[in-house]
Amino acid sequence: MRRHLVLCGGGHAHLFTLSRLAAFFEAGIDVTCVAPSPHLSYSGMGPGMLSGRYAPAELRFDVERMVREASGGQEGRRPSWTTPPGGIIPPGPPGGGGKGVGAFVRGSVAGIDPEARRLRLADGREIRYDAVSFGIGSVVAPPFPVDASPGVGVYPVKPIENLLLARRAIESRVEAGEAVQVLVVGGGTSAFEVAGNTLGLLTGLGVKKPLVTVVTGRGLLCGWPGRARRLAHAALARRGARRITGRVTRLRGDRAELADGGGVRCDVCLVATGTRPPELFAQAGLALGPDGGLSVNAFLQSPLFPEIFGGGDCIHFAPAPLPRAGVYAVRQGPVLFANLLAFLTGRQLTPFGKTGQNFLSLLNCGDGRAILRKGPLVLEGRWCMALKDAIDRRFIRRFAARAISVAP
Ligand SMILES: Cc1cc2nc3c(=O)[nH]c(=O)nc-3n(C[C@H](O)[C@H](O)[C@H](O)COP(=O)(O)OP(=O)(O)OC[C@H]3O[C@@H](n4cnc5c(N)ncnc54)[C@H](O)[C@@H]3O)c2cc1C
Repeated sequence: MRRHLVLCGGGHAHLFTLSRLAAFFEAGIDVTCVAPSPHLSYSGMGPGMLSGRYAPAELRFDVERMVREASGGQEGRRPSWTTPPGGIIPPGPPGGGGKGVGAFVRGSVAGIDPEARRLRLADGREIRYDAVSFGIGSVVAPPFPVDASPGVGVYPVKPIENLLLARRAIESRVEAGEAVQVLVVGGGTSAFEVAGNTLGLLTGLGVKKPLVTVVTGRGLLCGWPGRARRLAHAALARRGARRITGRVTRLRGDRAELADGGGVRCDVCLVATGTRPPELFAQAGLALGPDGGLSVNAFLQSPLFPEIFGGGDCIHFAPAPLPRAGVYAVRQGPVLFANLLAFLTGRQLTPFGKTGQNFLSLLNCGDGRAILRKGPLVLEGRWCMALKDAIDRRFIRRFAARAISVAP
């Protein structure tokens, strides 16, 4: 009987596996990828999409198409193999003979029964697996109550598609002649890039005095070298952004209330207050990290259920806890691929060892420049943005043969 691998999430951690599905099919393994969206937007270029530097299609992978094309189009000819809500999705779509076939299921995994090796989707469908890999990313939830007026747009920076929604909201207000006020909440790298690229968007739309406020919590780019922090402050200040060191306690009506009693008016609020793993794993009784991520061993494998694997933002890498950054999701990709195949074919697993934190960081300032950091080295300029652009486009091309960008 053919074996069934389920990939939960079509994100950065699973891109490598998704681009090599043929290896599973050759080994007689069916692969189902479950994700809420058939597309993945590459986060490294997300802030650039907000400013209008990139069209949405330039950073988008068509995950459903990757699965369909790897499967020789079989899945495309069998669009209705999944069951109605409440039914059980069979272990792999029909067809394929001795070889495995692939399927993309649009849906959200809402429950895991590790004893029965079964997943429950939000719409009630269920999927059985022989092995499963979780790459479901992380969520950004405002750490304050939100009771905003209907006209106020509140956009957590994940999923990345929210940045496109925010851009459209800002564009339509500017086109209507409004003096749109944008609030960015957060002080990390995402908040900086989102603030800088909001300024870039407004400037590009011809707004002379953009009204952008950043409420940074403890500060901007805490933990980064002093020079990088100064450059980041200057990049926002020279384009007129207001920066407040403080904490938002509530968003009520069109006003963000601050812990010190102050407030900021806003039409559009971008929330970049940090990410956390989804709550799915806690409900399933799996071993967890302190933040609720799926705890995995050196092989990216659950210590309690060896057929459960995971990578990227949703895991807690128990041997050496890692920050939630796409660079680790991408580094884990080849190890996940090798170990899922090895587990299902009875071969030896490979440990994940690329835990070094001295990686190259490039922050898009939103004005054609970027800030580069590598360890203590900090540089800034247009050439840094050109380097970031080249690296990001190379990443997109790396999977381009099977990851075809689609129109917005
Ligand atoms: C604005 C911004 C910019 C960033 N820039 C960088 C950068 O330049 N460099 C860097 O290293 N990191 C960056 N990051 C962080 C980076 O985005 C994440 O670390 C990375 O996306 C994690 O990859 P992942 O595979 O774990 O999750 P993701 O790539 O987010 O993929 C998650 C997948 O799971 C799916 N999914 C979610 N829930 C479910 C569910 N319940 N069931 C099934 N599927 C589900 C999603 O639809 C998606 O397909 C940035 C983040 C933000 C917000």
